[in-house]
Amino acid sequence: MTSKSAASAVLKPDICVIGGGSGGLTVAAAAASFGVSVVLIEKGKMGGDCLNYGCVPSKALIAAAKHAEAIREAPHFGVFAGEPEIDFARVNAHIHEVIGAIAPNDSVERFRALGVNVIQAEARFTDARTVVAGDQTIRARRFVLATGSKPRVPDISGLADVDYLTNETLFSLTTRPEHLIVIGGGPIGVEMAQAHRRLGCAVTILEMGTLLSKEDPELARIVTRRLEADGIAVLENIEILRASKGGDGSVSIAYRIDGEETSVTASHLLVAVGRAAQVDNLGLKEAGITFDQRGIKVGSGLKTSNSRVFAIGDAVAGGLQFTHVANYHAGLVLQQILFRVPAKENRSVIPRVTFTDPELAQIGLTEEEARKAGHTITIQRWPYAQNDRAEAERRTGGEIKIVAGKRGVILGVGIVGHGAGEMINLYALALSKKMTLNDLRGFIAPYPTMSEIGKRAAISYYAPMTRKPFVRKLLAFLRRFG
Ligand SMILES: Cc1cc2nc3c(=O)[nH]c(=O)nc-3n(C[C@H](O)[C@H](O)[C@H](O)COP(=O)(O)OP(=O)(O)OC[C@H]3O[C@@H](n4cnc5c(N)ncnc54)[C@H](O)[C@@H]3O)c2cc1C
Repeated sequence: MTSKSAASAVLKPDICVIGGGSGGLTVAAAAASFGVSVVLIEKGKMGGDCLNYGCVPSKALIAAAKHAEAIREAPHFGVFAGEPEIDFARVNAHIHEVIGAIAPNDSVERFRALGVNVIQAEARFTDARTVVAGDQTIRARRFVLATGSKPRVPDISGLADVDYLTNETLFSLTTRPEHLIVIGGGPIGVEMAQAHRRLGCAVTILEMGTLLSKEDPELARIVTRRLEADGIAVLENIEILRASKGGDGSVSIAYRIDGEETSVTASHLLVAVGRAAQVDNLGLKEAGITFDQRGIKVGSGLKTSNSRVFAIGDAVAGGLQFTHVANYHAGLVLQQILFRVPAKENRSVIPRVTFTDPELAQIGLTEEEARKAGHTITIQRWPYAQNDRAEAERRTGGEIKIVAGKRGVILGVGIVGHGAGEMINLYALALSKKMTLNDLRGFIAPYPTMSEIGKRAAISYYAPMTRKPFVRKLLAFLRRFG
């Protein structure tokens, strides 16, 4: 139990977690289940970004958009229902029903029932081992900073005078935007652009580089083509000059493209240019914790420059900003705090998915990254177009691209296509177990499933070998006597 001195009212738990989002909640729940005393401090909504303003509402919105699109595609299957009618208020209610269904898992009540001392206040270090939150002072054996991130706001002239949306306000809209401009063509920007387009909004994406620029360009282009086919105006390699407000509440963005200045006017503007780690007002300097605007600096075991303090999730400088990464970090930190077993982050086994249609999933190295790292590689591909299930479902756009090193060791896998986000799980296992293409061809995949494309890609690696004379002789021998 947390010990509390009546005189000083100082809480002295084993672990103090700051931030009740994906990472912080995982640490608190697991530590409490081992009977360790935990104080958890959350200044806003329990569940953090993922539950309230991120993964959950965005995937609920995408689910609504999928239903609309399925109705539009239905005539290809001989099913007719006309153009879908979208009730945006109902879409919004659906989003909040989904959040409401998940919220009890992350609630103050559940965590208190687990034995966690939950403090609902803003936390701040006052020195290297003391945090204050509201009228409480906490001196813990270990601290875990899980303060997450916030939307990055670009330096665009006039933007401050315009009513723009971010992920923190987008999911409150109960009326459909006539025309949504999305600044930023990263995963959040493109997911939200496509969902809104399919729910009947006109959508323009403004991107200074190319869409999904951190992904394999070949695979990203397949997504871009689909967004354009959906009717989204995709403007790449542009320079944004200024934002301004129209008298009717509209918003205009002036930009330069191919050396020419032009502008686009819309009813709504979404800013989605990336995330900034939440490092403000935390007293990090007082605690001797090194940080910059990219986030909190940590070693490979996620320890900060203050050996009493770990940092996890979106708050970490240069880290991958996903819920499963925050959860993974939580596990690494718990291993060190609870069991004193050293742990090291391994980024090569972390998958990522952009939940567009088609989905784009990646794990390990892309082709370009593998070449830059000096690997001798082969690329194995298989298109959805040569998969029977994809044909039956009319989901033939996309492919798997496997980057393999010497002796067929899998270095990275990218999949763009229907269900890629589910399929990548197999490759997450394959990379974490250092599997080879031989392992991928050696299991039985049920027919007809789209996952068969990975097996086919792996088999194609071995096909040229069967043309070598000694292998042909061996195969002939095995056929005769095997
Ligand atoms: C639109 C959108 C869609 C996304 N979709 C996905 C997805 O599909 N899949 C995926 O894996 N990831 C997705 N993400 C990313 C995911 O939401 C984050 O990576 C994840 O929430 C990070 O978890 P965290 O614990 O680091 O931070 P958070 O979940 O943000 O939690 C941090 C918490 O700390 C609290 N806090 C901050 N400072 C203090 C303080 N001083 N005192 C007390 N409390 C404090 C905050 O209020 C917050 O609740 C998405 C993000 C967005 C914005």
